[in-house]
Amino acid sequence: MRVFGLIGYPLSHSFSVKYFAEKFSKENISNCVYQNFEIPSIDDFPLIISDNPDLWGLNVTIPYKEKVIPFLDELSLEAQNIGAVNTIQIIRNQGKVKLIGHNTDCYGFHQSLKPLLQANHHKALILGTGGAAKAVEYVLKNLGLEVLYVSRNPEKNNELNYSDLEGDVFKKFKVIVNSTPLGMYPNVDDCPDIPYELLEKDNLLYDLIYNPAETKFMLQGAKKGAAVQNGLAMLQLQAEKAWEIWNS
Ligand code: NAP
Repeated sequence: MRVFGLIGYPLSHSFSVKYFAEKFSKENISNCVYQNFEIPSIDDFPLIISDNPDLWGLNVTIPYKEKVIPFLDELSLEAQNIGAVNTIQIIRNQGKVKLIGHNTDCYGFHQSLKPLLQANHHKALILGTGGAAKAVEYVLKNLGLEVLYVSRNPEKNNELNYSDLEGDVFKKFKVIVNSTPLGMYPNVDDCPDIPYELLEKDNLLYDLIYNPAETKFMLQGAKKGAAVQNGLAMLQLQAEKAWEIWNS
């Protein structure tokens, strides 16, 4: 049996267990299981590797995407540049274990975003400055967009305050990515504090949230005729990329 899993804390609402159970069933993969490894501290990570000799790969979620890095032997170029790991490849060879960290969030975001980009999409705002936002920034910059963050507590030159988002400044940013948890179930009436009334048909609002399928952020964009996208495709694409890495 080949074992795969997810580390994080807490893990009660994990998408991955359900996703891989359905995948294994649909594709008649009978020699694989995917399970949660809920660890209250990242210091428990080495035990998971040593206690589970059939473990072939792991996904990593909140709050360990950055904290797991010191425990790994190598990082992919993307994981290195982003500074966060959401997929670990476990290579076992004659009793030795090699752990390679990857970031497939950026693959998922890139693949799902690219078909939506229009010729006038030169500038993007990333709402929130957490781990997911770093992968988003990496992809947007690689696609040639100019990127600014919006934060409740701006500290760097490339960070704006929500109160800075007005008139001509806001209108220049045609792509807006919600990388905050605002609007996620069960708090479905929340949304980032941006001037939705200034949105236009050529805006693209991308929400990393996938539950609910249409967030208040997306709904308000759609009302103004903007293109909107939720985070489900990104989530599925990053999972499939992880599977590809584990089987490479
Ligand atoms: P996070 O670290 O918990 O939060 C991201 C940022 O959001 C924070 O750093 C903060 O930035 C801002 N924020 C947090 N609470 C806020 C509030 N009450 N009001 C305004 N801003 C707030 O989360 P994350 O891991 O980066 O993930 C962000 C979202 O992306 C989550 O909803 C997560 O589920 C989703 N996600 C989706 C996928 C996918 O595949 N679709 C992948 C990864 C993550 P400031 O302090 O600078 O304001």
